[in-house]
Amino acid sequence: MSEYVQQLMADVVAKNPSEPEFHQAVHEVVESLELVFERHPEYRSARILERAVEPERVLMFRVPWMDDRGDVQVNRGFRIEMNSAIGPYKGGLRFHPSVNLGILKFLAFEQVFKNALTTLPMGGGKGGSDFNPKGRSDAEVMRFCQSFMTELYRHIGPNTDVPAGDIGVGGREIGYLFGQYKRLANEFSGVLTGKGLGWGGSLIRPEATGYGAVCFACEMLKTRGQELSGRTCLVSGSGNVAQYTVEKLNELGAKAVTLSDSSGYVYDPEGIDPEKLAWVMQLKNVRRGRISEYAEYVRGAKFTPFDPSLGHNPLWTHEADCAFPSATQNEINEQDAKNLIKGGVTVVSEGANMPTTAQGVSVFLQSKILYAPGKAANAGGVAVSGLEMAQNSMRYGWTRDEVDTRLQMIMSDIHTSCVTAGERFGTPGNYVNGANIAGFLKVADAMIDQGLV
Ligand code: NDP
Repeated sequence: MSEYVQQLMADVVAKNPSEPEFHQAVHEVVESLELVFERHPEYRSARILERAVEPERVLMFRVPWMDDRGDVQVNRGFRIEMNSAIGPYKGGLRFHPSVNLGILKFLAFEQVFKNALTTLPMGGGKGGSDFNPKGRSDAEVMRFCQSFMTELYRHIGPNTDVPAGDIGVGGREIGYLFGQYKRLANEFSGVLTGKGLGWGGSLIRPEATGYGAVCFACEMLKTRGQELSGRTCLVSGSGNVAQYTVEKLNELGAKAVTLSDSSGYVYDPEGIDPEKLAWVMQLKNVRRGRISEYAEYVRGAKFTPFDPSLGHNPLWTHEADCAFPSATQNEINEQDAKNLIKGGVTVVSEGANMPTTAQGVSVFLQSKILYAPGKAANAGGVAVSGLEMAQNSMRYGWTRDEVDTRLQMIMSDIHTSCVTAGERFGTPGNYVNGANIAGFLKVADAMIDQGLV
């Protein structure tokens, strides 16, 4: 690592203590960018990276609300407005007890480069709360969302900052958040994406991240003259991204054999076919139950609870061809990465954000498998959010086919950008470098054009 990058990382760590996920996300990007700085000292002298690691604005606020028993609850709300060089801040809201400033800063940082890759005019941001929707009634979730938006609404807008969903924020939460925004701002605008179809949402938005991650895997396989059909796939998570990943895998003739949630995972050697997937969607989206119930519903399926003392995740030990991590950050460590390779996996397409630790990423890169980082592989979600914004501006909705065609074109363009940037900077086949470099160049050039702001 060059002295410049070492110093930059030391400053990031010193200035942002107790934010290991943020350090990890920055480290991955700056490592890739060493190649760029050698050839383009102008980015260094404009101190683009030093500016990019500093959010343009961080909002942190109290979210008081009342539970069903009449007790007062207090959570913490955040919005990180990271970078607006190429468009309004854009990125999801996460409601999960693990949420803190560092996690949201890592997500916002990643989002800046991901959004740049989509070719759409969107800056990067992320937000959320340490609120845990699990086990809460609809009325409690509504009261929380209303209180959260009562502060957030003054900072966002269709041309300023456009939040969307993420872990713990799906259609129900976006509905409550939008309703409160509309009431406070007295306007009906495209201020959130992931809206319901009947009130400004886009077709394919719920499906987009999972479909996009599968599409990216197909693009990678094409470079080796291969396809997904007939391949066995490991999928983690059982929320929005995991569900539509499995749907697309089924459509393309592949077989998904695992799903998980925070308590454990299920292995179904026969494959999670469309009928079983419909049952999972009902379980997770309507009944809000646990994935362990799958093993009671499907004969031959096995549930294994997670055991943190194990040091690895047994989901990744099954023999398979492809892996689609779609739950959360750092769910694949070095041992998991080795287990995946040992089990025959040659394609990893990340639906989740930063699901692989830095050591795990090194294992993938050294083994020369087809490995797509989340920044590229899961960009389909925000891409269709961008298309939702475009449709809202036109006050017009595209058909399912129109949106799907655009999504596939965007994923294919992202793939091409990664491949081209990787080759141009001397690391062909390295999608990590390709994604970081291609995203960075677009943002950096815009920052230089716009002067020192
Ligand atoms: P959901 O809330 O719909 O689902 C999340 C899934 O991951 C659930 O099965 C959940 O289990 C599991 N999970 C969450 N946290 C943990 C944890 N700490 N340990 C183990 N399992 C966990 O979220 P999404 O599907 O929307 O998001 C999944 C990933 O994809 C995230 O990394 C997100 O940032 C990323 N992403 C999402 C996009 C989107 O459009 N939704 C776009 C791009 C990326 P449980 O129910 O037990 O909590």
